[in-house]
Amino acid sequence: MLLQNPSWRKAKTAMKYKAFPLTDYYKNFSLIEGGHVPAFVCKNDPPIIFDPGVSAFGPLYYRTLLPLMPKQQHLLILLTHSHFDHCGAAPYLLRKFPGTQLGASIRAAEVLQKQSAIDLIRRFNAEYEEKMADDIKGEDTSFSGIIVDMHLQEGDRVELANGHCFQVFETPGHTRDCLSYFFPDTGVLVAGEAAGVPEGDFIHSVFLASCEDYANSIEKLRAIEAEALCIAHVGILTGRSQIVQYLTASLAAAQEYRSKIERYMDKFNGDKQKVVDTIVSVRTKTPFFASARQRAAQFLRSTTANPDLIVHWYHNSVLFAAFSGTPLPSQLLANPFCC
Ligand SMILES: [Zn+2]
Repeated sequence: MLLQNPSWRKAKTAMKYKAFPLTDYYKNFSLIEGGHVPAFVCKNDPPIIFDPGVSAFGPLYYRTLLPLMPKQQHLLILLTHSHFDHCGAAPYLLRKFPGTQLGASIRAAEVLQKQSAIDLIRRFNAEYEEKMADDIKGEDTSFSGIIVDMHLQEGDRVELANGHCFQVFETPGHTRDCLSYFFPDTGVLVAGEAAGVPEGDFIHSVFLASCEDYANSIEKLRAIEAEALCIAHVGILTGRSQIVQYLTASLAAAQEYRSKIERYMDKFNGDKQKVVDTIVSVRTKTPFFASARQRAAQFLRSTTANPDLIVHWYHNSVLFAAFSGTPLPSQLLANPFCC
């Protein structure tokens, strides 16, 4: 049976949380809009861009960063993890700003060197390039392999110019290669998807690699007591007490979600397709989810997948529906690089 830990059984009913107001900027941090994959920028010397999303947004990132770089200096790119929608535009920026350095976890560095991973990430990004051909105007934004210059791990402290620095925290759970970055001088914490992803009064629990690790990572983030939290896909949450409340709610949401999967696995005697259909039907009356359900059925027929992939599938479907309204590339359902 899936998910045995009794401590996860506490949450019994679907919970709603207060909606946490998000902003686009805080002190020297701001968000570059990019549909459902915004990137965060820290005005610094050099400027830092976190998670430059899909490749098609490369020119947008470039145009936004240029005014911060009057002398055409280099950038620092920091990745929270190696999913295609968090690193897709990194090669484009590396081509545009030679001398740019890129930091990520050791595990992410390994993933980004695998030809199979590069091919998959390139293919997902190419789907956006096709849809956004008018915006790209013939530029080559294609994804290619990335050499990670800075192999970062728990406890690292990286000194920047003018006495600034950032600290590195390993926050696995969403994927195994997740890092979060904390800037003590401003109190800003860049957490990627390790903090969950809010949508109104609902918090998506995105534990794709490990529920236990995901919960531990949220607790680790909560203990930092940041003043601003950059949350992947949505924006910046400010205020120490707001952030603690949010992370507490995110942890509860993860517990509730895990319990829900566990209950359905019991109820349907481990029938993964019924579990997926039931979970999805709770929140889904739209045409998107009608086709999503079909794809789920297809997916589950075509694999001997580990039940954890149900979580993966649900997460990705919901995120895509919530933030882009566009169908999910079916191959992502079986992304082998995060689980
Ligand atoms: Zn991700």
